[in-house]
Amino acid sequence: MIYLEGKVLEKEGFVHGYVKLVNGNIEVGKGKAPGEVLARGYILPYLINSHVHTGDTFIKKKIKNLPRDIEKLVAPPHGIKHRLLSRASKKEIVEGMKESLKMMKNRGVFAFCDFREGGVEGVYLLKDALRDVHLNAIILSRPSCISYDREEIKKLLDVSNGIGISSISDWDINILKKISADTKRRGKLFSLHASERIREDIDLILDLKPDFLVHMVKAEKGDLEMVRDEDIPVVLCPRSNAFFGLKTDYDLMKKVGIKVLLGTDNCMIAEPDVLAEVKWVLKNCKAYSIEELLKAVSYDAAEFFGIKDYGFEKGVVVVDTKSLKPIFVSSGKDHESKGSDV
Ligand SMILES: [Zn+2]
Repeated sequence: MIYLEGKVLEKEGFVHGYVKLVNGNIEVGKGKAPGEVLARGYILPYLINSHVHTGDTFIKKKIKNLPRDIEKLVAPPHGIKHRLLSRASKKEIVEGMKESLKMMKNRGVFAFCDFREGGVEGVYLLKDALRDVHLNAIILSRPSCISYDREEIKKLLDVSNGIGISSISDWDINILKKISADTKRRGKLFSLHASERIREDIDLILDLKPDFLVHMVKAEKGDLEMVRDEDIPVVLCPRSNAFFGLKTDYDLMKKVGIKVLLGTDNCMIAEPDVLAEVKWVLKNCKAYSIEELLKAVSYDAAEFFGIKDYGFEKGVVVVDTKSLKPIFVSSGKDHESKGSDV
């Protein structure tokens, strides 16, 4: 029997209480724990990383000083990342992915949304890695080339949870409209990076009916208001932005009332540790409370991605209140799966 005590995060917010783990069962109680306490801190159900690219993990070993220029590094098809991905062996990519999956699992991140490059083959590489490290993966795939091939889109949607595009700046908007329409017809997710390096046309972005957007660093107030009015969440990746010398206007995001989730973006740049993102935001702005940020990496993300049966029974994490590092992680009894049903 194990007792964990502290600020228990429930859907409505913090409650002072405890979690009792006994034989794979979980009980949540209010007030002091009635037995010896193993760990104290913020107590949450498992964490969710709402935006990550696990496929580029292997690159961090290849290049020590990555250029801090988005176009040079990550823009398809000629950015360093894409050149290295096209040359890498399957084994190299999968081993890198496993490293990131294990790191997530050890830090209490049991679900993640991956923007997977490399077409259908790229999806299978992640599924391969998930065979060894079981986590709940929401896989958003993308075509292997910047072009439209109805058959390829069909296959991508057969094997993934939807489509995750680099940005409208890299694509012909008419092609994206077709891809989005195909995705919507299948009832799957369509998402893209938006206004990361430069402000992009919000009307064009919203015409694509995205389910969520990533970044919106360069978005202006009017853009954000339109996104809010469409009830579209924005996934923020503060450490990735900082790497490129970018910073979101968090006060504006909060003021406008954007639904915010957190992700870690490219694994070659930042470890896939969403708590590090929470820590970064707390340190660098006053807009969000710890409670709001911890909800963004738990209940809010679970609700948005429609994760069934999300809760303490599927995994518990105790986070140290000072360092914001996980000090206890339990996988619960049956959280494991080989990826979401697609
Ligand atoms: Zn990204």
